Amino acid sequence: MKIDIVSVFPEYFEVMNLSLMGKAQAKGLLEIKAHNLRDWTHDVHHSVDDTPVGGGAGMVMKPEVWSECLDELLGFSRPSESSALSGTPVLIFPNPSAPLFTQRDATELSHADHLLFGCGRYEGYDARIPDYYRSQGVDVREYSIGDYVLNGGEVAVSVMLEAITRLMPGFMGNPDSIVEESYTGEGALLEHRQYTKPAVWRGISVPEVLLSGNHGKVDRFRRDEALTRTNEIRPDLIEALDCKALDKADRKTLMALGWEVSATHPRRLAD
Ligand code: SAM
Repeated sequence: MKIDIVSVFPEYFEVMNLSLMGKAQAKGLLEIKAHNLRDWTHDVHHSVDDTPVGGGAGMVMKPEVWSECLDELLGFSRPSESSALSGTPVLIFPNPSAPLFTQRDATELSHADHLLFGCGRYEGYDARIPDYYRSQGVDVREYSIGDYVLNGGEVAVSVMLEAITRLMPGFMGNPDSIVEESYTGEGALLEHRQYTKPAVWRGISVPEVLLSGNHGKVDRFRRDEALTRTNEIRPDLIEALDCKALDKADRKTLMALGWEVSATHPRRLAD
């Protein structure tokens, strides 16, 4: 997968040379290039921002600089060339006022050949930038990584990139480790709790069933724990489950937790 990132702090992405991301680049699985938006400016100050139209505090990123940069990276330097879009990267802007980025988005984007990220700064980027590229047929996404405001898009891009790339075939040493994770798959739940050795640490034992060697019992224990934790922490995920996909034991656990499971999706019984 080819990944281009545009930022006024491209050095931020040196961190991508570490750990699994660095290994994936060394293996040729990923090719990450960070570009400095200021390289597409023409004035002596290399300015990328201007005051907001309509007034207000702060500065907004200018569309002209972004368009020169994006036209080049998208492979069309004039709008008339934009008709030949096959192979155009998915263009992604982090934005706190956009829909939330989820595991589902990460899974979808892990199949892309080329991603192009544009990191906002200041009060953000001129809203016409994503609108324009959408109008030219580019697959443009805007995503928030959570209900809080960061100084810039660099951290958000790093978060999205980790979530996306670890789902690529060949990225993880052991591919099984991404199969049963939180938020993963159709019946997404929070994962059960994890333990390692020793069996007793500072007087606290791991659950006995995990030492039993009985795989059926271990699987059931973990599934019940996943259902119980999800019920406590993210009941919205329980509401999204498909009742037809639940087995008898799942139904029993959910009923004991106060859910009615005979409709299409579980419904919380009144207290
Ligand atoms: N004025 C904007 C607002 O209130 O929605 C905040 C702009 S923020 C200071 C600057 C840039 O940081 C944004 O353009 C975006 O690229 C990035 N950013 C900040 N918080 C983010 C979040 N929660 N998710 C994704 N990107 C974020």
